[in-house]
Amino acid sequence: MDIKNPRKPLIYYLITVLFIVLLLNTYVFPALLKRHITQVDYGRFLKELETGRVSRVEVQDEQIVFVVRNENGRESIYITGRMEDPDLVNRLYEANVVFNKLIPRENSPLLDFLLYWILPMFIFIGLGQFFARRLQGKIGGIGNAMSFGKSNARIYIEAETGKTFADVAGQEEAKEALAEVVGFLNEPEKYKEIGAKVPKGVLLVGPPGTGKTLLAKAVAGESKVPFFSISGSEFVEMFVGMGAARVRDLFKQAKEKAPCIIFIDEIDTIGKKRNSGPGSNEEREQTLNQLLTEMDGFEGDTGVVILAATNRPETLDPALLRPGRFDRRVPVELPDLAGREAILNLHARNVKLADDVDLTAIARATSGASGADLANIINEGALRAVRMGRKYVTQEDLEESIEVVIAGYQRKNAVISMKDKLTIAYHEIGHALVAAKLKHSAPVHKITIIPRTSGALGYTLQIDEGDRVLMNREQILAMISTYMGGRAAEELVFNTVTTGAANDIEKATRLARDMVTRFGMSEEFGMMALETMNNQYLGGDTSLLVSSETAARIDTVVERILKSSYQQACNILEENMDKLHELAKYLLEKETITGEEFMKILNS
Ligand code: ADP
Ligand code: MG
Ligand code: ZN
Repeated sequence: MDIKNPRKPLIYYLITVLFIVLLLNTYVFPALLKRHITQVDYGRFLKELETGRVSRVEVQDEQIVFVVRNENGRESIYITGRMEDPDLVNRLYEANVVFNKLIPRENSPLLDFLLYWILPMFIFIGLGQFFARRLQGKIGGIGNAMSFGKSNARIYIEAETGKTFADVAGQEEAKEALAEVVGFLNEPEKYKEIGAKVPKGVLLVGPPGTGKTLLAKAVAGESKVPFFSISGSEFVEMFVGMGAARVRDLFKQAKEKAPCIIFIDEIDTIGKKRNSGPGSNEEREQTLNQLLTEMDGFEGDTGVVILAATNRPETLDPALLRPGRFDRRVPVELPDLAGREAILNLHARNVKLADDVDLTAIARATSGASGADLANIINEGALRAVRMGRKYVTQEDLEESIEVVIAGYQRKNAVISMKDKLTIAYHEIGHALVAAKLKHSAPVHKITIIPRTSGALGYTLQIDEGDRVLMNREQILAMISTYMGGRAAEELVFNTVTTGAANDIEKATRLARDMVTRFGMSEEFGMMALETMNNQYLGGDTSLLVSSETAARIDTVVERILKSSYQQACNILEENMDKLHELAKYLLEKETITGEEFMKILNS
């Protein structure tokens, strides 16, 4: 149902305005006018008359207004109540003042009415509408009281977003797929001649920050057709049925403007699988149903292309994904080494760089970072350069900002006792030593025991030479052993253990579990899928697929892997005990050491 401009609120609105005007007329305006008039008693009036300072008197029906001129010639106005005083005229005559009786002057009633009632009303209505419009612009929800069921999609026309494909680095496949859509909308004849149909819906999927929204904006900039952009959450309304009405309105507008592109960002908010069980959401389902209907409701050649983005494709309703709706899926994955370098280069264009900057090195150090992370790293580096009072961004700025993005800012004045600092130094060297001694682990790049705002007390940064697409069993085991190295060093040296290894334990266990349940790397289970990943792009939590007996067996296997890795770490450290002491002492002194320094001491 479509509710149009409801009348009721307007009436309330008028009544409120009337009330305010009344209030102002009775209290505020008169007070304003009388500000400079002092009220005095009749005796004061008589005294002032006798002193002869009164220059003018105006006798009204109820009161007497008189003007007193003091020594320095300034006039002040007084008012007093009118008493029954037969001698008044004589007194005034004797005092030699100008006086008269004022007969109340009647304004034209029409003018009064206009001035006091109609004019303020217009002013208030004007003000009210001004604010309402501003609110509507800012917070969709409130302004919408006046426009139920209207989709508030923003329309971008040709290049209005200011973004083009040149603003998206890496993601070549995604750009290619989208360029085809743009091509079709710009020159449909070329496609019609051959008889090719362009996909009705294109779904961009990938982890957050990889540039999905950016790609859509670039499409808007590249195509010469109108571009409707709306976010999934904007369909979800307080009132049942409004979401569906909005979908209908959006498609109606789009069909009028065809050829055009509709972009629905974060489509998972409305596109979740429908279910009838508990927790089903009527409103969302209605919205989704309407969307499905609308997508069927136009033919491929009307020239409306629907673009959508999500990072939770697995939650989408299968009906949305079938051919004829979102029939093309464009993955927008985390960038690889070359992609990261391209993104860094793109964002570094607007930043002044020192000659020593090597963006390839930065790209290598940021495996797993998204485009948004990389943009952030460049910006943090620039901010750091300003803080340091430099005019250029140096390599050091960028390396520090990688750590800021990964681990947070340095906590310069965190108070950590010497004993704890020593433990942390041994812990970190433990990681680094195990990593260095294992053939399959990535080289150590940096070790630090400066605490960070993320809560990390220190960390060891390892950087792979190339980009890893696949990881083999040995590499994963080496990673697990490296995680174990910290705790192992603590135990061997101090004969006790601390809470500092909590994060290592979590990560090592996750890896060991994945080996068994998802990668088929255990002898016991082999190629059996024991867990599925629920949302691969968002953290990737998993759920078990197996009976509780099997789950118990999984736990034993995982435990065995972890125990043997820990043993391996202990063995490595015991064999290199003197290096462990030497390096820990060095790290404690320096707080941060590079991979080269570390290797030099290790190999000396
Ligand atoms: P999402 O995939 O979550 O929608 P966005 O498109 O909002 O990610 O990306 C956020 C920001 O990250 C962009 O505004 C841009 O500055 C940067 N970014 C992400 N990916 C890229 C890329 N491939 N090229 C250039 N900048 C990128
Ligand atoms: Mg986005
Ligand atoms: Zn650790």
